[in-house]
Order: sequence, then structure tokens, then C-alpha cells
Amino acid sequence: MTPKIHHHGATTGVTGSCHELRYPAPDAQNATGYHSLLIDCGLCQGDEAGDDGARANQLQIGFDIAPIQALIITHVHIDHVGRLPYLLAAGYQGPILTSTASAELLPLVLEDALKVGFTRDQRLIEQVLAVLRSRIIALPFGQWHRLDGQGGVVPLESAGEPPGSAPLIRLQRAGHILGSAYVEIDVPIDVPHKRQRIVFSGDLGAPDTPLLPAPQPPERADILVLESTYGDRCHEDRSTRVERLRTVIEHALADGGTVLIPAFSIGRTQELLYELEGLFHAHGQGGAQARPHWQRLQVVLDSPFLDP
Ligand SMILES: [Zn+2]
Repeated sequence: MTPKIHHHGATTGVTGSCHELRYPAPDAQNATGYHSLLIDCGLCQGDEAGDDGARANQLQIGFDIAPIQALIITHVHIDHVGRLPYLLAAGYQGPILTSTASAELLPLVLEDALKVGFTRDQRLIEQVLAVLRSRIIALPFGQWHRLDGQGGVVPLESAGEPPGSAPLIRLQRAGHILGSAYVEIDVPIDVPHKRQRIVFSGDLGAPDTPLLPAPQPPERADILVLESTYGDRCHEDRSTRVERLRTVIEHALADGGTVLIPAFSIGRTQELLYELEGLFHAHGQGGAQARPHWQRLQVVLDSPFLDP
């Protein structure tokens, strides 16, 4: 067989990312002749909870998990990781590969998701998180690894042997949120000594993001699976967005109003606070462009998990 890609989400909307890459494996125990890698296991959110198996009220893992050798997480937004507890509940016992920063964030994000969607029973949550932590393997960016066939990975230089039928996996910076990656995967094909490179983009960031380096393009790809949440839109110029934010705040300060900003808890919120800090620095007390009314400005960050 040649590698095949099956999408278990994000096919009728932009959330619920979950892609399965199947590749030939002569030693497969499952008589199917293939193994697979799962790239992300996200929750379908909002009105887009469609009929592609990812809807929020229909969370069963509706595909065979036996061939899956590893789950690779591109980043920890819930539309890329939210079905992971269901995958574990379905019996998945393989490794969870992700970047070093995402490995730190993943238990925190899923703890929140479990509290929202499942239970406030902290003991139960801790049990799930313990299983999760035992499966996570943090991979550095820019380093090829191969699966060792025993639930682990080996950096390619120290493998000391050709990868044989094992897939090779490399994470690269995606510039989307802290720890975000796109994934390059080299898999064997049914032509001896030949491989194909498949690249899964995850969510990609744009240049001029204040807290993250810009994404670097991949060297090459035989197949590119590109997420395109905003593919049909032109973003406003990012280089002037601080000025637009300043204008909105100035307007609210002038008429005694309030600015409400809905923002993703990971990524957008930190960027906004960073930009606001810069504005305070420029216009607040003692700044070179100090304006008295900026001293009246309060910033309130609301979160359901800011427990007292
Ligand atoms: Zn994202």
C-alpha cells in the first residue's frame, strides 16, 4: 500500500482536527498490513459540531485504534487535543509525542477541559492526568526521531541503523501558540528503500507575532495537509494593530466605556496582555507619551478557572 490519510474530524468545519496517516507495515499484528500515526485528537466546537464524528455530544472514538503507533500533538488548543481523554478511555496505550512546551501545557489544558465537560471530582481528574503524563514524550524541535516499536522514540543520530519500516518524525516551529509545531513525517512506501514525506501543518502563525518566532517553511513535502481556518480571509495588517488597539481604548476612556475582548485563553490572551503592557509603558505614568486618563485604565482578565 501507499500511505493513506483518513480524517476523523475537521472535515466539515475548522475544529476537531484528527488525522490518521496509515503506512505499510509488513509486521503489523492486526492483519491489516498497515500501521498508523494519529495527528491531533481535537474536539469539534460550537456550531461546527458537525456530522464528521467529532461533535461534542458524540465523542466516541469511531475508528479502529489498534493500528495507531503514536499520537502526535501539534499544539494544545482544545480543537486539537480535546478528544484525547476519549482516546485514552477507548484503550489507546501508545505514546503521545509533542514539543517540550506543549508537554508542559497539555495536562493543564486537559484538566480544564475535564472540569468543564466531565467532572469536578479532582481524584478522578488526577487519575486521568497521571495516565496522560505517563504517555507524553517531549520532542525537541528540528530533530528527527523514529519510533522504537516499544512505545518510545529514538533520536535518529543515535539509532545507529536505518529506520527500516519505522516512520521518522520531526517537529518544527509553527509560530501559532507556545509550543506549537507542524509535523514532518517520513513513512515507508511499498517500494523498497523509498519513503514519502507528509507534512501536517497544524495551525500556523503569522509573522510579526510579538511573543513567538515566525514559522519556518518546511524543506519539502510529497503531501501537505494544510489547516486553513482563515484561508478564505485577509487579515488586517498586523504591524498597525497595536495602534488600532490604542485607538479603541482611547475611545473608551474618552466616553467612559468598557472594552470587552473575547480571546483564546492560550495565545491571544498573552499577546493582548503583552500589547497592553507596551501601551501602558508608552502612555501611562512617566512614559514619554504619558496621557493622564491611561492611569484610570483597569484590565480585568476573566477566566472560569481563576479559582478563589
Ligand atoms: Zn490553534
